[in-house]
Amino acid sequence: MSATAVSCGAIGIEHIGTPVRLRGWVNRRRDHGGLVFIDVRDRDGISQIVFDPADAATFDIAQSLRNEDVIDVVGDVRARPAGTENANLATGTVELGVTSLAVLSRSLTPPFPINVDGDVDENLRLKYRYLDLRRPRLQHNLTVRHKIVKAMRDFFDARDFLEIETPVLIKSTPEGARDFLVPSRVHPGTFYALPQSPQLLKQILMIGGLGRYMQIARCFRDEDSRADRQPEFTQLDVEMSFVDEEDVMAIMEACIVHVWKAALGHEIAQPIPRIAHVDAMRRFGIDKPDLRFGLELCDVNSAFEGTSINFLKAHVANPASRMAAVRYPGGAALSRRDFDAITETAKSFGAGGLIYVTYAADGWKSSIQKLLDDATVTKLRELCDAEVGDAILLVAGERALATDVAGKLRLHVADRLQLRDPATFAFCWIVDFPLFERDADTGAIAPTHHPFTAPLVGQESLLESDPLAMRAQHYDLVLNGFELGSGSIRIHDVAFQKRIFEVFGLSDAIIEDRFGFFMEALRYGAPPHGGMAWGIDRLAMLACGETSIRDVIAFPKNQVARDLMMDAPSAVPDVSLRDVGLQLRRGAGSAPTPPAEPAKT
Ligand code: ASP
Repeated sequence: MSATAVSCGAIGIEHIGTPVRLRGWVNRRRDHGGLVFIDVRDRDGISQIVFDPADAATFDIAQSLRNEDVIDVVGDVRARPAGTENANLATGTVELGVTSLAVLSRSLTPPFPINVDGDVDENLRLKYRYLDLRRPRLQHNLTVRHKIVKAMRDFFDARDFLEIETPVLIKSTPEGARDFLVPSRVHPGTFYALPQSPQLLKQILMIGGLGRYMQIARCFRDEDSRADRQPEFTQLDVEMSFVDEEDVMAIMEACIVHVWKAALGHEIAQPIPRIAHVDAMRRFGIDKPDLRFGLELCDVNSAFEGTSINFLKAHVANPASRMAAVRYPGGAALSRRDFDAITETAKSFGAGGLIYVTYAADGWKSSIQKLLDDATVTKLRELCDAEVGDAILLVAGERALATDVAGKLRLHVADRLQLRDPATFAFCWIVDFPLFERDADTGAIAPTHHPFTAPLVGQESLLESDPLAMRAQHYDLVLNGFELGSGSIRIHDVAFQKRIFEVFGLSDAIIEDRFGFFMEALRYGAPPHGGMAWGIDRLAMLACGETSIRDVIAFPKNQVARDLMMDAPSAVPDVSLRDVGLQLRRGAGSAPTPPAEPAKT
């Protein structure tokens, strides 16, 4: 009887008595009681195989096997002797008595263990990514990611969307971040750019009459490295014609519900709550609130009406200021040192200082004990719904800064109390965004989303008179404090699109140079349209309970944008530069100084 090839996670009692063939990696070898036991592993799982010294030739080779050698074995499946079953393994009731063994490949000693998920320096994992990929954690994460992407494709396919590939070599139309540039050899002195998103192309697909588009799209942004950013990332990109905000949100909500069910077996409670942008800022201090816990911010100005505390007076009745408090459940039990540490944390968020009040059974205490009185403290307690045993943390200052600090303190308190369980999924929509915001650095007005987002219907006339009062047809989907993605209804009127560009100070010449092709397309019968994009890396990260997107990407760059396995980016021969008409500036081969590798932990 010829042997049936089975995966290493699949042998079971149904195979007893039949010859079976397994191929995989040596996960672990044990020489025990005169026998050799090997756990052989593939993506599907682990099987125990046993070598008997009666077959001397095979037994000798088995004894020479090392972790990560690749083997091909045939044998008979049999029940494990009573008492030796392994309940932790799906195959743990049986084992394979080997009758033939072939060694397909030998392995050097791996630089870190593959058969356990212990902590390994991340740069080492990335250099030997093929070994890291063999570990259960990444095998699991990439499997979940596959299921997520497949569920997305199935969902949109069933609803008449077309998956359409947009090009990766496009025109540079800077959208905020820097473009990656690709020099053209055929047209010396000119450059393609890699897309930061297929935004204009998907809008043009709507002008092209395709109606419903989706794509699992690779996007590129040349940003300075941040811990959780990759220079290239994958996004679910969607666009639809003849829709309004409700239509797009309905389909995207149904999509996330389907994806979570198909990939994780998890039911998302519907409807997903909606929060207006202004309320999110007031209640949570951020436009991507973590709703796994409460602890909403409390505005406490009224407790200080008529106060004589000098540094608070300026804020009490000032609309440009905010006095916001966070309740710390059980915080009255914290020590002075704890509060000093929390104060330092608040300062690292940008606060000038932090006021705290604790409510214990035997009275209250505060960092500004001498300046407070019983009435104020009681009022504060009422405003914050604090109970005996709680503390409150209070920041006062310029509105945007105090809001931001209070929002971060809320998360800090939740972290200290371990309220952010990665297995809980709290989704929300943020809606009713302002169309524009002031750039924190330059003070200039900038689009909150991007310059193609339409304002609320009827607000067009505010564009020149009061642009900051305009609201957008813009919606974000948020999960556990992370923005999964943004979308909007787009401007399809070319004259209004031009007015928007002009508000940003773009001259006719610049509009023509950067967006001429798009403006031209808008003149040929553009349907109303809108869409959305979700970051798949981040979505998969949260689905897998990971804290870094690098753990859900097969071949990520490290924290300073290097591919450590391939050693990229790297220098290229002079001839390759000459081909594309480029010459490095003197010294540019070694400079600029590359950013330091992150500290090893
Ligand atoms: N293109 C936008 C982005 O990448 C998403 C969208 O508006 O659809 O953020």
